[in-house]
Amino acid sequence: MPPQNFVILGGGISGLTAAWYLARNAPPSTKITLLEASDRFGGWIQSTRVGEERILFEQGPRTLRPSGLGAGVILDMAAKLNLTGFIHAVGKYEPAARNRYLYYPDRLVQLPGGSLLSSLKSIVQNKFILSSIYSVIREPFIKPFKNLDDESIHSFIARRFNLTLADTMMSALVHGIYAGDIKNLSIKSTFKQIFDMEQNYGSVIKGMINSKKLSALSQKDQSWLDLLCLENKDLFSFMSTTSLYSFANGIEQLVHAIVSDLETRENVTIKTSHRVKKLKFDKEVEVYTNDGSFRTDHIISTIPSHELAGLLPELPYLTYNPSVTVAVVNIAYGRPNLLPVKGFGYLIPRITPNNPYHVLGVVFDSDAMPHQDYKKDKYTKLTVMMGGHYYNNLSENDYPNKDEILSQAVETIEKHLGIYLTPLQCMVQIHRKCIPQYYVGHYSRIKELHYAIKKNYGKRLSVGGASYFGVSINDCVTNSARLVLDLLGNEDERVIITGLERVEEIEPTKSK
Ligand SMILES: Cc1cc2nc3c(=O)[nH]c(=O)nc-3n(C[C@H](O)[C@H](O)[C@H](O)COP(=O)(O)OP(=O)(O)OC[C@H]3O[C@@H](n4cnc5c(N)ncnc54)[C@H](O)[C@@H]3O)c2cc1C
Repeated sequence: MPPQNFVILGGGISGLTAAWYLARNAPPSTKITLLEASDRFGGWIQSTRVGEERILFEQGPRTLRPSGLGAGVILDMAAKLNLTGFIHAVGKYEPAARNRYLYYPDRLVQLPGGSLLSSLKSIVQNKFILSSIYSVIREPFIKPFKNLDDESIHSFIARRFNLTLADTMMSALVHGIYAGDIKNLSIKSTFKQIFDMEQNYGSVIKGMINSKKLSALSQKDQSWLDLLCLENKDLFSFMSTTSLYSFANGIEQLVHAIVSDLETRENVTIKTSHRVKKLKFDKEVEVYTNDGSFRTDHIISTIPSHELAGLLPELPYLTYNPSVTVAVVNIAYGRPNLLPVKGFGYLIPRITPNNPYHVLGVVFDSDAMPHQDYKKDKYTKLTVMMGGHYYNNLSENDYPNKDEILSQAVETIEKHLGIYLTPLQCMVQIHRKCIPQYYVGHYSRIKELHYAIKKNYGKRLSVGGASYFGVSINDCVTNSARLVLDLLGNEDERVIITGLERVEEIEPTKSK
């Protein structure tokens, strides 16, 4: 029988999704408690309006991808939470969808994918793009490494394509998603589809051609997505024409809607300012916080793995992967159309010279999400992201302070974009340990963790959140929803759900 009483650790999007899925799918007699350490829900999701103008600044995530199972789950949630009318989408043919740039070596370079003319111009003018295209043509003829356990993204891309592609476009992409070092991150845990293409088809390009015919999803997930599409037909057909989306008041609007919904339910208790400090396992689990204790028969932990390590130090590998610190600088200038180009923004590859402030990339918010501001035609809005893996070796005293970070960001914008105005509004956040880095070998370590949870805490503990299978909001939400459905659907006393079952699907393994 599924558990009757759940305590969820963490009130970020993973914990909130778990609570919401439980509330909708478990019998009404099931007791659900969510405990969040800080004084607000949402974790890294934080959308704030500033100044008289009420300009929207996203301090964490800013856009969602409307494709795949993750999008299916979020859009279904949005529909059920009456958020459909608040969706702000960018069409597939708008500049923000088509125009992406790198800053390399000392200027903005548009990547192919925009108009035919601009793509051709970029290829002719930039040797690194031409060399990358040549490596793509050659890739199907390169002998595969079969039975590869794992490898860094850098060495995989350099081996199958070439060093130029790895060091420029791919390292920039990794800066944009993980703020991470392409030389440390695992290809298998970050770009699994690409990894599988070499294993299954002998080549990434051959795999791409063939995978058009095949779904990237398992049969079970595909049926789930089909069902979600069927229930939300109009929304899904509209979203198929879009490239990214958010909500009128930013991504945090989704958080507020989930919280409001949970607050109306009698069997759900959600608490902020309740840091979980200790877990004691006997027949049930006693959860100790700074403000009282809670008894439960099942814990769903969605807190970062390094936080869980403090509660359950005997579990393996919870602190193996570091999480990087990112400085986020939101800037709005009091004049529109200041940018020299139109598009989503630009990323900076690892080999770009003269990047003294460790800038990872700049998002052109006023192009990327133009309709979130009430007077959108009055401003140019940008976000500068800095640090990430470049901050890894800094000791606590070496971090630049917020004023220094702001002037570094302003100086970067002057140099890269030629904007020499004083910002109308700005905001600086230093997000400590905000994005987990899946180092090479991540899957094998997660597999050991999975069996350790089964052995020591089976039927009492499951885990979710960004530390395990993907950092995007799409991944976090899907993993929490899947975990809850698996727990509630499990009628077999012998089956233990840890939340990490996917490692068994990935590589059939001997049972331990
Ligand atoms: C700057 C930035 C930009 C990003 N941009 C995007 C983007 O554009 N699109 C996208 O899809 N993703 C993006 N991401 C990634 C995405 O936002 C995160 O991976 C995701 O929000 C993580 O959600 P989570 O609930 O798993 O974890 P978290 O948000 O970390 O939530 C965990 C919660 O647990 C709480 N907690 C910790 N310890 C305890 C304890 N002991 N007891 C109780 N509570 C505890 C924390 O306070 C926190 O609220 C971005 C991330 C960052 C940092």
